[in-house]
Amino acid sequence: MPDFAEPLQRLVDEFRRLPGIGQKSAQRLAFHVLRGAREDAERLSHALLDVKDKLGLCAICNNISDGEECTYCRNPNRDRTSICVVEEPHNILPVETTRAFDGLYHVLHGAISPLRGIGPEQLKIKGLIARLSGGEVQEVIVATNPTVEGEATASYLARLLKPLGVKVSRIAMGIPVGSDLEFADEVTMSKSLENRREL
Ligand code: ZN
Repeated sequence: MPDFAEPLQRLVDEFRRLPGIGQKSAQRLAFHVLRGAREDAERLSHALLDVKDKLGLCAICNNISDGEECTYCRNPNRDRTSICVVEEPHNILPVETTRAFDGLYHVLHGAISPLRGIGPEQLKIKGLIARLSGGEVQEVIVATNPTVEGEATASYLARLLKPLGVKVSRIAMGIPVGSDLEFADEVTMSKSLENRREL
């Protein structure tokens, strides 16, 4: 283990805590920062703090937002009769990229997982039910991940929402089972939406 000066070692350690960054990458990044201009380091540190200080959750759909409502909920051109339910904010992007969906979203911030002690009450489901009470929403498309947890969440939502008189559908499984929506290519995601089935 190389013996760096303390501030450099600290930076290497911080980079190593990031996902997908090993010792070598962490050192490369730390030396890059060390060699670079002070302004570059300042910009990086501000960007890091701004995502913590200036972003919150959309009051309607729980997507990450820099205001009370996110860009989708604010957009008057989005179709307000359908809601696509996803597990995490980063799952919205692959759906958006298909351009096959122009409705609104709802982010659960997790999935039901009895093994990890996560039940429906820990997910942001109450807000979804509230959104359906207006009567405007006709379809809820469940786009949780094709994993055991995602499937359990989809079944739970179908049981919960169908009695409210709304159509509940599930994206088709062109997406590899056990993977994350994040890794689905555009065509696969587009087909999955197109071939969704009613739950
Ligand atoms: Zn929103």
